Amino acid sequence: MQVLERLRDSMKDIVQKSIKRTYTNAKRLRRLNERKLTPKVNEFMRYMRKQLQRGLIRVKARKPETFTEQLADWDAIIEEGKRILKPELLKILAEGGKAVVERKVIKQEAEPRFDVLGVPAVKWAEKHTAKLVTEVIEEMKKAIRQEVKAGIDYGKSIQKIAKELRPIVGLTSRQAGAVAKYRALLEEQALPEQKIASLVERYANRLHRYRTQLIARTETRRALNEGVFQGFEQIGIGKVEGVSSPDSCEWCMENINGRVVSTDMARSIDAEAHPGCECTWVAAS
Ligand SMILES: [Zn+2]
Repeated sequence: MQVLERLRDSMKDIVQKSIKRTYTNAKRLRRLNERKLTPKVNEFMRYMRKQLQRGLIRVKARKPETFTEQLADWDAIIEEGKRILKPELLKILAEGGKAVVERKVIKQEAEPRFDVLGVPAVKWAEKHTAKLVTEVIEEMKKAIRQEVKAGIDYGKSIQKIAKELRPIVGLTSRQAGAVAKYRALLEEQALPEQKIASLVERYANRLHRYRTQLIARTETRRALNEGVFQGFEQIGIGKVEGVSSPDSCEWCMENINGRVVSTDMARSIDAEAHPGCECTWVAAS
């Protein structure tokens, strides 16, 4: 009895250690790739902001209804975003695939190579980058429309609105709203205009950095996990098990941790995970 118990305990120990190792490896891989993606996200966001800043200079004749659409050549921004981000996301996907296929996640007898130029990888990178860039832009348009409407309701001129939009173009509607609230608060205190502008800019810049980081983190995880799923599929493993860190949120503990599902199911669960999620998937034993 005692021997059995001890055996069970040591088995538990081994399982826990191996889960911990898997989790640590996945985390390291994520950090490494996040560091590579962040400058690219930054490049895209900067490019976009520059285009919008340019559009905000001569706005006198603009009507509020067409203000946002005419602000920039949005299609060109989408194309540039894809050009900047797609190669990097494909590379990260490949890292996820390699981690599985080339024995970092599971032991394999042969020496297979992850096929990064196969149809699924290229297709995913194409589709996902377009979706990501469009989402970022749509959210930003929403923020601009929201601030234009608020400004007009308040009785501000279109030039004044354009001026106030300068620091916030590139933020989400929620972040833009927070900056606008902050500005209103400073205006109530009757501070000099120059002082208000510099405080607002500092606050907005913090939010820009935060947004870039969050996009990089979320997209790194998405691309890595997609690579992991494709890696398993390439070596014929159809079932995966979710692994969460002990301090994961309740949602992840319930929906990801310990769940054994098909790779397709794992994909759809993963798509619902919160932005900063750190969970990973291993081959189901
Ligand atoms: Zn999670």
